[in-house]
Amino acid sequence: SLHGKTALVTGSTSGIGLAIARRLAQAGADVFLNGVGDEAQNRALARDLGSEFGVRSEFSPADMSRPDEIEAMCRQALDAFGRIDILVNNAGIQHVAAVEEFPPEKWDQILAINLSSSFHTIRHLLPGMKAAGWGRIVNTASAHALFASPYKSAYVAAKHGIAGLTKTVALEVAQMHITVNAIAPGYVWTPLVERQVPDTARARGITEEEVKRDVILAAQPTKEFVTVEQVASLAHYLCSDDAKSITGTVISMDGGWSAQ
Ligand code: NAD
Repeated sequence: SLHGKTALVTGSTSGIGLAIARRLAQAGADVFLNGVGDEAQNRALARDLGSEFGVRSEFSPADMSRPDEIEAMCRQALDAFGRIDILVNNAGIQHVAAVEEFPPEKWDQILAINLSSSFHTIRHLLPGMKAAGWGRIVNTASAHALFASPYKSAYVAAKHGIAGLTKTVALEVAQMHITVNAIAPGYVWTPLVERQVPDTARARGITEEEVKRDVILAAQPTKEFVTVEQVASLAHYLCSDDAKSITGTVISMDGGWSAQ
């Protein structure tokens, strides 16, 4: 149980981050949510989540590409909850283009959101974990933290970077009852992926099932999507005391992708 614990989850208004926030709240943790998009809707989402599970919930629209906004969010979270025990760095975006055509400003944005934001949240929130003598940091990496795909240079570079940051911070706090791990999902069924299916089916003249199996899941041997609930369950486990000896790892949940 995570009763009495507090968690901050970046990029938690949709997909994997939302599922992790829900799972931690279900286990009794107070949750601090974050995400971009419709602010009123996101605030309502955070409020509803809090009342559904009977925990405190807060929200910040901080843009994870902005170090000043990240700092303000961390300060707001510490003010609201007194302490952040669990930090989940999950916010992330994708852009697909050949490296020589990759827009430099997209490169900078992806490195900022998918990698540097985790450095900033960690440097602001780790001192509190050290003072408390307990902490959990879970970074949502990707199969692309271990393997590459063409045309995703910024994403793959940032996710490989997250693997390095995870291992380094884990070593720095190894004797302080703080663990630092990354989850490396293969393709996960999120609204982002779901939206691409009907268009691809129409464009290629194949069924939606064929799009999922033969196009999107080409690299995933199970030919099944990972679900957000499965990723959330692993994140929850990593926050438990049973997982105290798991640190500095990049844990694959990818339907066999990494076995090839
Ligand atoms: P999603 O688009 O459903 O959710 C992304 C979340 O990040 C949203 O809450 C969004 O508001 C937030 N976000 C985006 N830009 C932001 C910014 N600048 N500042 C703050 N928040 C921002 O995507 P998802 O599929 O749930 O992805 C979540 C994480 O999982 C990402 O790091 C992604 O790289 C990783 N991941 C996804 C898959 C997959 O197949 N879906 C696979 C492996 C890893």
